[in-house]
Amino acid sequence: MKLNMQIAFAPPEETYLRLRRKYPFTPYGKGNPSRVLLSCILSARTKDELTYPTADELFKKYPTPKELCSAPPQDVETLLKPLGFFRQKAKHIREAACFISEKDVPKTTEELLLVPGIGPKCAAIVRAFGWGIPDIAVDTHVFRISKRLGWTTSADTLDQTQKKLKLLFPINQWVFINHLVVSLGRDVCRPQRPLCNLCVLSDICPYPSNP
Ligand code: SF4
Repeated sequence: MKLNMQIAFAPPEETYLRLRRKYPFTPYGKGNPSRVLLSCILSARTKDELTYPTADELFKKYPTPKELCSAPPQDVETLLKPLGFFRQKAKHIREAACFISEKDVPKTTEELLLVPGIGPKCAAIVRAFGWGIPDIAVDTHVFRISKRLGWTTSADTLDQTQKKLKLLFPINQWVFINHLVVSLGRDVCRPQRPLCNLCVLSDICPYPSNP
């Protein structure tokens, strides 16, 4: 039940606090761009408690991108077996390791998106936690849910969405926005029929289908 039927938009600070509690995130390999990038590939649709010990085992055996690039594919698959989609992740992580062992880890979003297995979420994480460059990555989840939460309008483009979000949130929160909103989108705020009755924002969200 909404507290206030006249809600125009979800208050950013309260939204941020609730989502941080619901979808916690601790970056792996902070300050080490290649570790941040490679571990981000492993983390897709996997909990940190499972991702981080697996990453530790992988990097113990193959500590550098160059060594991982030339690792036997079968061995990498075996090391990643505890993770979901381990075959796909083994392929992507070796390709990414080869890419960055030749060209180093890129700093711009555009170049990071050229690395195999890296999407907007990982690009933002690499920039923030690998290189110390805060940013807000706007992908389809962030674009859609920002409208539902009343932070943007249906007329806003991807660039305008990013600009508005940067005005709504303090800079030290930027890097978490993509992770939090994507997690919300995968969990309950799905493109079709969002599960508003299960959402931690249900009392502060203005979306019309939210009861
Ligand atoms: S699931 Fe519903 S209540 Fe939650 S953010 Fe999406 S539209 Fe709002």
